[in-house]
Amino acid sequence: TKFTELGLAEPVLRAVRNEGYETPTPIQAKSIPAVLAGRDVVGIAQTGTGKTAAFVLPLLTRLLEENKQAPGRSCRALILAPTRELASQIAESIAVYGKGTGLSHAVIFGGVKPGPQIRALAKGLDILVATPGRLLDHMGEGKARLDLTSTVILDEADQMLDLGFMPAIRRLLQAVGKPRQTVMYSATMPTAIRKLADDFLHDPVTVSV
Ligand code: AMP
Repeated sequence: TKFTELGLAEPVLRAVRNEGYETPTPIQAKSIPAVLAGRDVVGIAQTGTGKTAAFVLPLLTRLLEENKQAPGRSCRALILAPTRELASQIAESIAVYGKGTGLSHAVIFGGVKPGPQIRALAKGLDILVATPGRLLDHMGEGKARLDLTSTVILDEADQMLDLGFMPAIRRLLQAVGKPRQTVMYSATMPTAIRKLADDFLHDPVTVSV
């Protein structure tokens, strides 16, 4: 498979070429068509397999093709990650792959002042990357809303489980409107993650490497 055969939007393909990537990794070759088709996806993949691009590239493409705008305090797509480091890395990848798309994004996590995050949320965002606890705080304060969000991606779901975020994730997913596309990546599939997929994903495609 080549990147050009996967149905990605032109500005996204250009960014991939700029990065010097020639061939999709196995998780990318399997995930990208499923995410582009709007399917719910369970991806079993470790860090280092190229899983970030596996969900960021088709997400950017879908958002470009849909060409909507997010009202204030909302986001069109939400990416949840366990730690500020991972959330920041995902945001950095969105900046790189999304450079030519004009799509907006922001990253929020705990341990820092909420003010700049609240201002970023206020405008409405195409993509919000967040750790679960801080996002719930903003929602409790009325500074973020998920009822208009139509895509949710959970990265390193098993890590989020280990860090005690399962109740927060369930509350966040309950707040997201329907219909929605839900995509989940996890290195392992403990019972609680399978249960989460059973409860919140609709007829998911499973991809693994
Ligand atoms: P990740 O698993 O998402 O953390 O990605 C691991 C590393 O692989 C990152 O440094 C990416 O920049 C790189 N990478 C992602 N996709 C490709 C690809 N198709 N070809 C070569 N390198 C890639």
